[in-house]
Amino acid sequence: MEQLDVAIVGAGFSGLYMLHKARELGLSARVFEAADGVGGTWYWNRYPGARVDVESHEYSYSFSPDLEATWNWSERYAAQPELLRYLNHVADRFDLRRDIRFETRVTSAVFDEAARRWTVTTDKGDHISARYCVMATGCLSVPKRIDIPGAETFKGEVYNTSSWPTSGVDFRGKRVGIIGTGSSAVQTITQIAPEVGSLHVFQRTPSFSIPAHNGPANPDVVRDWRANRESYRQAERENAIGIVAAVASDKLALETPAEERNRVYEERWARGGFAIGGCFADFLITKEANDTFVDFIAEKVRGIVKDPETAEKLTPRTYPVGSKRICVDTGYFEVFNRDNVTLVDISTAPVSVTPKGVKAGGTEYEFDCLIFALGFDAMTGALSKIDIRGRDGLALKDKWEDGPRTYLGLMVAGYPNMFMVTGPGSPSVLSNMVVSIEQHIDWISDCIAAMSQRQMDAIEATPQAEDMWVAHVNEVANMTLYPQANSWYVGANVEGKARVFMPYPGGVGVYRQLCNDVVAKGYEGFAMSSSSRP
Ligand code: FAD
Ligand code: NAP
Repeated sequence: MEQLDVAIVGAGFSGLYMLHKARELGLSARVFEAADGVGGTWYWNRYPGARVDVESHEYSYSFSPDLEATWNWSERYAAQPELLRYLNHVADRFDLRRDIRFETRVTSAVFDEAARRWTVTTDKGDHISARYCVMATGCLSVPKRIDIPGAETFKGEVYNTSSWPTSGVDFRGKRVGIIGTGSSAVQTITQIAPEVGSLHVFQRTPSFSIPAHNGPANPDVVRDWRANRESYRQAERENAIGIVAAVASDKLALETPAEERNRVYEERWARGGFAIGGCFADFLITKEANDTFVDFIAEKVRGIVKDPETAEKLTPRTYPVGSKRICVDTGYFEVFNRDNVTLVDISTAPVSVTPKGVKAGGTEYEFDCLIFALGFDAMTGALSKIDIRGRDGLALKDKWEDGPRTYLGLMVAGYPNMFMVTGPGSPSVLSNMVVSIEQHIDWISDCIAAMSQRQMDAIEATPQAEDMWVAHVNEVANMTLYPQANSWYVGANVEGKARVFMPYPGGVGVYRQLCNDVVAKGYEGFAMSSSSRP
């Protein structure tokens, strides 16, 4: 059996950086990746219009100043092909490919208690023994099952945003239907609307969307970023969501006069994207404060969409703004002013698919192409698909039946030497994920180095620390408006999934400090041990 120090599952932003760090520590490491290339999210999600929702220079690695100084982003918000080129460039620059096994899916990972090692099995018949297993499997890498009756009966072309054909799709002149209005759909709709013959958008719940104000990378911004790179990167690491522009205000919306409040909203709207984050301290805490921003957005939508009925349907009224990830768009609402685009509200009656198209509210709409943009089995989906067995053969799926339980989103009690990157219980999907990924990989690498220095061969979260952390995550989540939405953050989009708020909403900077404190206190809440010493 192949012997490794570290087995890494996944070759996206997380797996690539983990491999690089493992090599720096002098460890033998290998990445197993189901796809035939690197990139993770940016390998799979090739739908038209796919692009980042955080400015490109921020949504990029910070660990190598040289890499940062020599890579030039062409747009403020890079599109998928450029992000994929970037990750391929990283793989080449750091010579990572020779330790990546592509087109290889990890099917099981079983902890051998006597050897204190993981046995990793793949669909290619490999059996690998590794001291450490790092699950860099992604939070949004397993598409949700298509749960629409009749979906398999459609006779035309069918596409899923999360597994788009590499050759692209020619929609010119075709009758197209799309189901879903989350971030993936918002980007797809905006991009294909001018090209298709007709487009019907089936919307169950409208999304809050903020303009990106995308455009070519601004040379002044690039110059400034490069000149002050260190302080900007530090600011990202310390703020709530890992985005420099999302400066947290300590002012309360409800204590701010309406005129001044609107000025703040206008200013952040004009900056675009997640600059809106942190606009007021009570924004995601008090419903009345949140409502003031909902009203602001409603006004914006009414100003853009000419048909008042369509504008009203596009305005979210059933959940607080920010309690689902906000979409960042490039002309989304404007699309509904086009003659060839129709919004079909399916909030009151579910849709079904027929051989010819989609049936909604008693009407059958006929299409040449149907696009599903239904989202993901988020945060736990990829881990649940692997048969992970810890102490006493306990399956992780079973341990997590009532929702994920972790310590710091990094480890699970009963699963020694297995780390998760941006796992449930960490800020993860509430942040600029590259910032959170780098923090996790740095922490994991330092931990492995500390284990080796102390001549230890097993580290595990204690059940007490896990209980304490789960309680803390719930307590913080319940102080916010997050749990009020039926979002994928709480698993509400997947039938039968336990309803638990999964990410840690305490903020990237606060969380980083907590992780550092744990280390400073001798890995508090973790038990380290050695088989060769009592
Ligand atoms: P991923 O990129 O998801 O990579 C995980 C890899 O693991 C995949 O390649 C998968 O094939 C592989 N894998 C999983 N299970 C197995 C297995 N059992 N065996 C072998 N291989 C396996 N975040 C942001 O912060 N900003 C954004 O703008 C943003 N945009 C996004 C757009 C889309 C369309 C999606 C879906 C997500 C977006 N995200 C964004 C979140 C995004 O997932 C992260 O930013 C980041 O790319 C995650 O990197 P990762 O390496 O952790 O996971
Ligand atoms: P999503 O946000 O979960 O959206 C899925 C959409 O499909 C929702 O509108 C949902 O409606 C609808 N839907 C699901 N099942 C349905 C059904 N049975 N019938 C009718 N409608 C159904 O998924 P996503 O758009 O792929 O985005 C997921 C996350 O990935 C985002 O939140 C973001 O974090 C990330 N992402 C980012 C970007 C970016 O801008 N860079 C782009 C894409 C994705 P309901 O809301 O009613 O459930």
